[in-house]
Amino acid sequence: MEELKVCPYCNGDMVQGYIQSPRIIIWSKKKHRLSFLPKEYEGDIMVKGANLLGAYEQAYCCQKCETIIIRGNN
Ligand SMILES: [Zn+2]
Repeated sequence: MEELKVCPYCNGDMVQGYIQSPRIIIWSKKKHRLSFLPKEYEGDIMVKGANLLGAYEQAYCCQKCETIIIRGNN
């Protein structure tokens, strides 16, 4: 995967690390209130599934503006 070195918003230094959660991580257009399973028919994306140790996905964080960028898998 191509390394992201410069923030596209403020030109700050991007540092590679991980987004971590005790549960699955999804992206959705609308907030889910009950179920956190992705509704793929509504365009939701499963960023990362979880196991007993939780979920983590490689991400870049800008050290200046704290923007976090996760690359897709496709
Ligand atoms: Zn930035």
